[in-house]
Amino acid sequence: METLNELREHIGDCHRCDLGDTRTRLVFGVGRTDADLMFIGEAPGRNEDLKGEPFVGAAGKLLDELLASIDLTRDDVYIANILKCRPPGNRNPLPAEIETCTPFLREQVRLVNPCVIVTLGNFATKFVLKTTAGITGLRGSVQHAGSFTVLPIFHPAAALYDISKRDTLFADFALIGQLLSACGAEGHEPVQGRLFGA
Ligand code: SF4
Repeated sequence: METLNELREHIGDCHRCDLGDTRTRLVFGVGRTDADLMFIGEAPGRNEDLKGEPFVGAAGKLLDELLASIDLTRDDVYIANILKCRPPGNRNPLPAEIETCTPFLREQVRLVNPCVIVTLGNFATKFVLKTTAGITGLRGSVQHAGSFTVLPIFHPAAALYDISKRDTLFADFALIGQLLSACGAEGHEPVQGRLFGA
């Protein structure tokens, strides 16, 4: 596939896993198609499932504030999730669901080809870094996966009612700003070789 639109058409009205039977709307991803910065979250929640967009609830509002803190908006970044459909009751993604759905995410990463990938929370971090380590230990530490610089941070939803996590998120976003500065004005090399998680 050459474009994100082609990928979206390829996914279609997906029922490749059981979440296709319970979701309201598939949440493909949004943002700048050649963004230097890509966020990978976990899965759509209730609001996202209804609207078909990632991060539209209270966690999305916090994400907007965090982006503004480094002079960015959603139009500057690309946002996607590990799963494109909501697990019932917001339960955790199942391994089989992740295995079935993440080839689409890998393709999105290949097409956007960001410089920096920020993983939001445990599931995205474990998938991208192929690690069993938890987000609490990894957050704020600069990692690498394939040709990408990766920064794991808390999921904004986890910080909604936890002031200390909120402060930590703002500090980690300052680091994102520094990492983006290092990407250079001329961007970065096209993806070579295997992607993470492959
Ligand atoms: S979660 Fe992914 S694989 Fe499962 S139905 Fe939705 S788009 Fe298809």
